[in-house]
Order: sequence, then structure tokens, then C-alpha cells
Amino acid sequence: MEKREELYRGKAKSVYKTDDADRLILLFRNDTSAFDGKRIEQLDRKGMVNNKFNAFIMQKLEEAGVPTQFDRLLGDNEALVKKLEMIPVECVVRNYAAGSLVKRLGVEEGLQLSPSTFELFLKDDAKGDPFINESHVIAFGWASAENLATMKALSLKVNEVLSKLFDDAGLLLVDFKLEFGLFHGQIVLGDEFSPDGCRLWDKETRKKMDKDRFRQGLGDVIEAYEEVAARLGVPL
Ligand code: ADP
Ligand code: UDP
Repeated sequence: MEKREELYRGKAKSVYKTDDADRLILLFRNDTSAFDGKRIEQLDRKGMVNNKFNAFIMQKLEEAGVPTQFDRLLGDNEALVKKLEMIPVECVVRNYAAGSLVKRLGVEEGLQLSPSTFELFLKDDAKGDPFINESHVIAFGWASAENLATMKALSLKVNEVLSKLFDDAGLLLVDFKLEFGLFHGQIVLGDEFSPDGCRLWDKETRKKMDKDRFRQGLGDVIEAYEEVAARLGVPL
């Protein structure tokens, strides 16, 4: 596999073309951003931890029947993935109230949500990733009704698989964000699943073990990511 030119530089990852038109290389950098990119810092080891964490989770999801982009790890910071035509919508599943839901509705952080909720946000930093609904996705042509239904069903399936995986590691999967894309017409899970894009709390103490440590200036950000990885058995 030959690495070619950079296609896109995101806030946390860089995307490279390869000699295969159907494959990309994702390079996980140490850049850590919050508040739609308004705050950016470098955190040692973050790229490596998230790359390996993502590989582990994507493989678990694939085994459970969720189609993912993941092909193979290429090194500490790089992975080979399917080249998807990304759908510019973020799918968020919540099991407990936190973050923007608490701000929007004024409910107490940690309130258990039953059933789990499914929300959509437009992926557009300049507009602050606005909250949207299913009819917007279809009316503006971001995804077809059929593809959106698949994205929702897969998001709920991911929740089922990962809630159990994290529970077994003594962690609550509070909420998470997924991005999907099309690969030869099929909906496939893309981007990444790591503590940057989900909330994880210790089951007993409710200690935050995810990117909220960075957003809220709690310190020991990567130490917490590494502890989550160790509890799950992710080889780092
Ligand atoms: P952002 O764009 O939010 O700053 P990143 O730094 O994570 O985020 O950049 C990665 C970019 O690559 C994102 O725009 C994401 O949608 C895109 N992407 C992720 N996985 C794939 C894939 N398999 N195929 C094509 N694009 C992808
Ligand atoms: N999230 C993300 N990228 C975004 C927005 C949210 O990965 O651009 C994740 C976030 O880490 C959390 C979940 O999606 O796990 C729900 O985020 P929320 O809507 O509560 O927004 P936040 O408070 O993170 O801005």
C-alpha cells in the first residue's frame, strides 16, 4: 500500500490518498480540539491511543455485524480504511444525560434515558454543528430516507454492543457520536470511535474518563484514555 498526497486535514486526523482508489489512510494526530475547533492543544500519545482504540472497537463492531470502514492498522498512528463518501451528519446516541442535552433541556447530568435517545447534528463547524431532525436530512438531501433508517438502526446496534463491552470493563457508555458514509452504495461506519467522541464514566465513582476531562480542564486526559484502553484489553 503506497501513501499518496494529503486529501484533507481535519481537527484531529489527516486523510491521505493511497494507490488504491477505494482506500484511504487515516493519520491520528495529537491535536485535541474542543468547542468546534476554537480550542486546540497537543496531547502526547493521543494519536497513538485513539488509533489503536478505534481499531479495537471497529473490529468488535465488525464481528457483531456492523459494516465498518476499518481495514488494518499500518503503525502507531495510521490505519488503512475504506474510502467513504461521507454523509455530513453526526448521529448521537445517549444513555444518560450530559453535555448539550443538559444545556438544551436543563435536566440533571447523569439522568438515565430510557429508551436511549437518537439525535442528529449537521457536521458544520462554522455553523456550530446545529441540531437537526430526520426530515431536514431527507429534505436537504444529506441522506435518503432509506439510508437514514439504516444509520439509525446501526447506531442503536452499536449502542447495544458497546454498552455491554464497556459495562464489562466497569464503565458506563453515557453517549457517543458516529459518522457514516457510502461505500459502493452501502452505508458503512466511518471516522472513529474513541474517548474523543464519546462519554465514559467509571460505573462506581462516575469519574469522567473521556474528552470532557479536556473540555472541563480536569487534567490527566490521556492517562484516563489509557486506563479505559487497559480495562478493555486494547493493546497499546
Ligand atoms: P473534522 O473534520 O471534524 O475536523 P477529523 O480531524 O477527525 O475531523 O478529520 C477526519 C475527516 O475525515 C472527517 O471530515 C471525516 O468525516 C473524514 N473521514 C473519516 N473517515 C473517513 C473515510 N473512511 N472515508 C472518507 N472520509 C473519512
Ligand atoms: N461529539 C463529537 N463531536 C462533535 C459533537 C459531539 O464527538 O462535534 C460527541 C461528544 O463527545 C459526546 C456526544 O457526541 O460524546 C454528544 O455530544 P453533545 O451533543 O452532548 O455535545 P458537547 O457537549 O460534546 O458539545
